Amino acid sequence: HADLALYQAKSSGRNNLHFFSRHLKNKATFELQLEEELHLALSRDEGLFLNYQPILDLHSGQVTKLEALVRWQHPQLGLLSPDRFIGVAEANGFIADLDGWVLRQACRDLASLAALGFHDLRVAVNCSALNLSRDDLVEEVQRALTENGIRAQRLELEVTENALMSNVNQALHLLEGIRGLGVSISIDDFGTGYSSLAYLKRLPLDTLKIDRSFVMDIPGSHADMEIIQAIIGMAHTLHLQVVAEGVETREQLDFLRSHGCDYIQGYLLSRPQPLVVIEDFLRHSHGLGSSNVRPLRPIDSNP
Ligand code: C2E
Ligand code: MG
Ligand code: MG
Ligand code: MG
Repeated sequence: HADLALYQAKSSGRNNLHFFSRHLKNKATFELQLEEELHLALSRDEGLFLNYQPILDLHSGQVTKLEALVRWQHPQLGLLSPDRFIGVAEANGFIADLDGWVLRQACRDLASLAALGFHDLRVAVNCSALNLSRDDLVEEVQRALTENGIRAQRLELEVTENALMSNVNQALHLLEGIRGLGVSISIDDFGTGYSSLAYLKRLPLDTLKIDRSFVMDIPGSHADMEIIQAIIGMAHTLHLQVVAEGVETREQLDFLRSHGCDYIQGYLLSRPQPLVVIEDFLRHSHGLGSSNVRPLRPIDSNP
């Protein structure tokens, strides 16, 4: 097929090649511009904001934590999801600044949530793999907590499975430092990477988040249902709590609850939303009984 494509490119002549290189040039220019604009947005604290998605504790029937998910309101391109710009920040060396901004904003939001009476609500923040090689990360986390008067127990850090496994010794050292502060650690997108059980046992972890791809095809896929049961069993053996990501249907919720999953997160409960919307959500979701978890109607809008 590659040969055929080459042949077709050749036979259609110079115009096609010209078009191709112009396309590449445009793409490069676009990336460069996006990079500059993101840098500017960060330095001016303009356009970046956090959406929050509630995480429901299936044992108590209460929303006990939120995940912070970054968004960028771009002046021309509109609302951008992290998949559009995290890679840009990672490739250009300012992912540390971006994740640092998210961390500080999340701590400010934790303070305002406490002022509204949500003293025990926790927030989970995502951490890029690249940050695991920074030796000042522990200090930065400590500073963000202290500056906003936040107990470390209210903060969680989410790190993807592959990020952890690509350099276990480095991760081990860093996570021990962060956990030493009292911050919890979650392993994100679990099941999509290459974890070794020996490492899972050694790493200082608190929570395992089952990737959405395993939840998606419940109840259609028996294989996925078996896998989820196995992950929950293994996690509990290792004294880890389990969050299922991407729960969109009542059937998925029922399956997960009846198999001992500890938490769910997904559109069934709520999409990620700006903090003011989530505050409203929290006020109304108060007092859901554990035997009567009644997911609220998913609220629309923001991705
Ligand atoms: P993630 O940490 O696994 O976050 C979950 C993603 O799944 C979010 O996408 C969320 O909107 C989406 N999601 C949640 N529930 C459902 C559902 O029921 N159905 C479907 N189809 N999707 C659902 P989002 O916000 O686009 O974020 C994508 C990824 O970007 C995140 O995956 C995370 O890895 C990364 N990310 C987000 N914020 C940050 C950040 O501040 N720093 C870094 N380094 N990465 C971030
Ligand atoms: Mg996450
Ligand atoms: Mg995930
Ligand atoms: Mg993900």
